[in-house]
Amino acid sequence: MSDCIFCKIAGKAIPAELLFEDERVVAVRDIHPAAPVHLLVIPKAHVATLNDAAGEDDALLASIVRAAAAVARAQGVAGSGYRLVVNCNRDGGQEVFHLHAHVLGGRKLGPMG
Ligand code: 5GP
Ligand code: ZN
Repeated sequence: MSDCIFCKIAGKAIPAELLFEDERVVAVRDIHPAAPVHLLVIPKAHVATLNDAAGEDDALLASIVRAAAAVARAQGVAGSGYRLVVNCNRDGGQEVFHLHAHVLGGRKLGPMG
């Protein structure tokens, strides 16, 4: 098992409440929520950044987006709305270098950037 924290969460090497799971991804709550609902959709495969997603990862990328919508629905924010965010590298504010998507909702979000 690599030293990557999201590999450990997705691989169940460290315990976490999984709000969603399918063959390719898991979803958990962010430990430092920036909104009342702040979820992370994490692929089971290690891809460092969105830049590293190749054509063979198309199914994985689709799973991330579809899982985000499913978990937003399950957490009760599908109707009120939410934002799906992928941070990439330094200017994008990426801190964990294992591709993941943030699902933010539960309040009116401000403008981006
Ligand atoms: P990034 O800035 O890389 O897009 O976002 C990383 C996110 O992962 C941050 O919002 C941070 O709070 C969250 N995070 C970091 N470590 C952990 C962890 O061990 N468990 C969970 N659930 N979230 C984490
Ligand atoms: Zn990883």
